[in-house]
Amino acid sequence: MKKIGILGGTFNPIHKGHVWLAQQFFRRLSLDQLLLIPTKQPTHKQAPCLVSAHHRLEMCRLAMEPFGFLVSDLEVSRPTDSYTVLTLRELRRQFPEDAFYLLMGEDMFLTLAQWKEPQDIFSMATLCVSPRSCDPGNLERLREYARSLEPMGANSLLLDIPYLPVSSTKIRETVQNGGDLREWVPDAVADYITAHHLYENNGG
Ligand code: ATP
Repeated sequence: MKKIGILGGTFNPIHKGHVWLAQQFFRRLSLDQLLLIPTKQPTHKQAPCLVSAHHRLEMCRLAMEPFGFLVSDLEVSRPTDSYTVLTLRELRRQFPEDAFYLLMGEDMFLTLAQWKEPQDIFSMATLCVSPRSCDPGNLERLREYARSLEPMGANSLLLDIPYLPVSSTKIRETVQNGGDLREWVPDAVADYITAHHLYENNGG
């Protein structure tokens, strides 16, 4: 049985926070494989200036493949909306023997009860959560939320991964302000954004 980590997100664009998160989860959970799955559309939040799935996939590959992590087009190529429960069912068919670890930051975790068919998600994967602020009270809040999900069958692992203060929103703003991207995105991704003029205008 392999341990497969699944990191979903809009990745609009991917940044060093995502790369750090993937590396930390991979090492701390002793995962065998890590799958990055860009969403077709954001199901849980608004995504302004969403660039095409093609560009987002390419940037994910540039950032993640050097570490041996895989980027999947499973959600962007599916005709329906991106729902984690559908993705997990598909992965279960592909990997019937393996254990799934759903990797996420705190903001995603705190919306889990509103996701489509959360109990089915909880039955298929262990939830693995990283804080998304430096507030020391955070872990306790996350623990409380994890406890509230237990009656629905959720098994949550809260990892105290040091927080990197970066978001895709910040990267998009940096492009629009003409700032230096390289502090917060891998060089290959910064070059890709510049070469394709992404995020320069509203809508990329
Ligand atoms: P946006 O700024 O557009 O909302 P984002 O930076 O939150 O984007 P997503 O693609 O939505 O990026 O995030 C994918 C996953 O990575 C989510 O589970 C999110 O919580 C997590 N994540 C993103 N950035 C960080 C970070 N700096 N620290 C911890 N988790 C993060």
